[in-house]
Amino acid sequence: MFSVLTIAAFNDNYIWLIKDSQSQRCVVVDPGDAAPVLEILAAQELVIEAIIITHHHHDHIGGVKDLLSDNPNIKVFAKQPLFDQVNLVDEDAEVSFFDDRLTFKVWQVAGHTLDHIVYFNDQMLFCGDTLFSAGCGRVFEGSHQQMYSALSRLSTLSDETKVYCAHEYTQNNLIFALQVDPTNNDLLAYIKQVSKLRQQGLPSIPTTIKCEKAINPFLRTSDTALVNNLQNLLAKPIEAGLPCFAALRTYKDNF
Ligand SMILES: [Zn+2]
Repeated sequence: MFSVLTIAAFNDNYIWLIKDSQSQRCVVVDPGDAAPVLEILAAQELVIEAIIITHHHHDHIGGVKDLLSDNPNIKVFAKQPLFDQVNLVDEDAEVSFFDDRLTFKVWQVAGHTLDHIVYFNDQMLFCGDTLFSAGCGRVFEGSHQQMYSALSRLSTLSDETKVYCAHEYTQNNLIFALQVDPTNNDLLAYIKQVSKLRQQGLPSIPTTIKCEKAINPFLRTSDTALVNNLQNLLAKPIEAGLPCFAALRTYKDNF
């Protein structure tokens, strides 16, 4: 039995801890800070088996060295050799944990950074700063084309897949989503749902692929109403698909 624990870090980061209650071992995703992770390990008497890293930004890897000094047997997975003992993984790799009872597939999703990868199976997706609820990561190192391809690919995962992204950006993203997609009833309902959760101090994450396909403007670049509305807002013709994605991303960068 696996459960995913939410560890809040910094202002709005989430570090995810996948716990195997059978072995009391865990896998930690993107530990930007060691302190809150060590706290949970102590409180729940857990041992880290592995750390999986989605990309090289400091708020995703800043805690790795301290966690390793606490337990040098931890396996670290990433796309590039960020630390001495990294197991390099790339497109289509499979990584297994807890005596092979948990397996993730790896996809390369350049866009936010060039080394960005995601880990997923039928139930869960750990997507770092690529897909957020109601938004997507900024395109820092890659191109709009790469980010568009990455998001299109993630949207092919099964509807029920839980999406564990690395930031609680949802409410801010929803302000922008409402601006570009104001007639989307699923979006209006989701705004209410998220506002309720956040008022209670609860995370809006995980979301699901099904939900994101319905409300996330960056996954809805072929929706006629959204494209038409964006054309009106920007006062220029915009084609569906990649041109719509690029226009949305640029608009949001300055929103
Ligand atoms: Zn990042």
